[in-house]
Amino acid sequence: MLKAHPRGLYLLFATEMWERFSYYGNRALLTLFMLSALSFDKHFTAALYGQYTGLVFLTPLIGGYIADRFWGNRRSIMVGGILMAAGQFSLFAAGSVYQQLNLAIPLFYLGLGLIILGNGLFKPNISTMVGQLYSAQDQRKDAAYTIFYMGINLGSFMAPLICGTLGDTGNPADFRWGFFAAGTGMLLSLLIFGLLQNRYLRDPEGHAIGMAPAQRSQTQTANHQEPLTRADYDRMLVIGVISFFVIFFWAAFEQAGVSLTFFANESLDREIMGWTVPTSWFQSLNPVFVLLFAPLLAQLWVKLAKHDREPASPTKMAYGLLLLAAGFLVIAQAVDQVGPGVKISLFWLVAMYWLHSMGELCLSPIGLSLVNKLAPAKFASLLMGVWFLSTAAANWFAGVLAGFYPEAGKAAPSFLGWQIHSLNDFFMLFVIMSFTAGALLLLTTGQLQKRMHGVN
Ligand code: GLN
Repeated sequence: MLKAHPRGLYLLFATEMWERFSYYGNRALLTLFMLSALSFDKHFTAALYGQYTGLVFLTPLIGGYIADRFWGNRRSIMVGGILMAAGQFSLFAAGSVYQQLNLAIPLFYLGLGLIILGNGLFKPNISTMVGQLYSAQDQRKDAAYTIFYMGINLGSFMAPLICGTLGDTGNPADFRWGFFAAGTGMLLSLLIFGLLQNRYLRDPEGHAIGMAPAQRSQTQTANHQEPLTRADYDRMLVIGVISFFVIFFWAAFEQAGVSLTFFANESLDREIMGWTVPTSWFQSLNPVFVLLFAPLLAQLWVKLAKHDREPASPTKMAYGLLLLAAGFLVIAQAVDQVGPGVKISLFWLVAMYWLHSMGELCLSPIGLSLVNKLAPAKFASLLMGVWFLSTAAANWFAGVLAGFYPEAGKAAPSFLGWQIHSLNDFFMLFVIMSFTAGALLLLTTGQLQKRMHGVN
């Protein structure tokens, strides 16, 4: 899988790795900073966190539009990266004056706002460029996006370890060093991209990619001017349909940061040989599993393709949803076997995260690649924004669903008329949701494939 990919892929890998390091480093500290340094209450903190993580994925729609129409990918990435770095350093400033709330709070909001805008310009455009390194029919695109996805996860893996360790020391004055590290990561990303883009970001014919409309090569311009055909509209419809199904994936998957963290904290036996595993460490399992299993899965697809048995992309994505359902089923079964007050072995949660990560690998890099293959050139980045829009909706939905987490001594909440009495009920909600979405997607793959017109 690693052999014979254009060098530009590794440039995008490194750029995105440091950007994700910055984003997830900040995210690991955000709620703690709000609670312990800014003295926000839990309710407000949770709501703000949900709004922030939702908005971060909403702005890619705007960033994608700006790139397709005016700036091109490269310039959008540079401007977005500068805004994100400015945002991180604004949080660093907020952390430096956290005792003067009248200064710290405006700086904090300014920082979040800059990151939201910056991510909008950065995320869809870096993702689009991966596919542009290859010709339209190139079979290596899925593998390329899987390698790129490993970059994302290498960054997300390092982030809590470095920014978390620097910032979360128990002394609120130290948060700023975590934000400082996040800002430095973003500057590294900009430096790598800024210095090497001209050398490596080229299409197979050697023309520069990611340029503004006026600077594109003749063939690229011709591609962008062509009027949309019936097939293009069909393919865009497919992007819309899969983006809809994907909402249910991320809404369940993103429980990792909310209800599954409550669960790990309260109901999991985290002792190993007299030592207690910190709850936050469970967040590193997902990126580690992605890094370990991405090459394996990419090889599996290549092997199946050789025997002409590689599943179509929407089928792989449906498998992703089913694996997610299987993960929640494991944990639902595990909590069902123990009596009240008894904690379950942490291996159940590890098994669940493994299944979730395998599901993510079937769905997320494959989805990025599919959007790239289906999108007409002139809307490539905008449609990548549509794909990320589903994550925005999902983050909001994830927060709503986490609200159904049963709490001892409180009345059982009901979801669509179904009373959630126990943890088993709660986790079964996600089994049913992701299984239904996966099964429906499987049923529609035939229809979708017809409308993909040769893309797979
Ligand atoms: N974890 C991945 C990233 O940060 C996936 C995000 C998503 O599409 N929901 O890029």
